[in-house]
Amino acid sequence: MGVRRTCAPSRFATGSPPQCALSCALVAKTAKKAKPKRPPRARTASREQARRHDKLVEARLKLAALEPGGAEAHPVEVASASVVEARGEAERCPRCDEPLRTEEHAVVETARGLVRKLTLRCRSCGLERAFYVRVAEKLLN
Ligand SMILES: [Zn+2]
Repeated sequence: MGVRRTCAPSRFATGSPPQCALSCALVAKTAKKAKPKRPPRARTASREQARRHDKLVEARLKLAALEPGGAEAHPVEVASASVVEARGEAERCPRCDEPLRTEEHAVVETARGLVRKLTLRCRSCGLERAFYVRVAEKLLN
């Protein structure tokens, strides 16, 4: 596990814009503190990196909730019930970007009709997330 920074601090400034504006914004507060004269101990560095990663994951989870399928108010539409789970498993883990597995497949009633609620679990880190899908086949009748 490298402790190489992806958000270049000023000493690495090359004039090009940072690659990860999102995580840079998230760590802006802690970045000031992290300016040691010598390289931080591996443990400190990895702890800082973990904290930074946690904030990034938190932001990704919030973003995932706002994207289609992230909440029952805005489900992803599919044409047939047979592809509901495949559609859910096409999503990636917000934490580690690994594939997800369907843990539970339920039908929930919402103000705007029936919606499939998938409970997806990351195959790698075990993170659980809900994913909402609406089957549009009734519209064809
Ligand atoms: Zn994961």
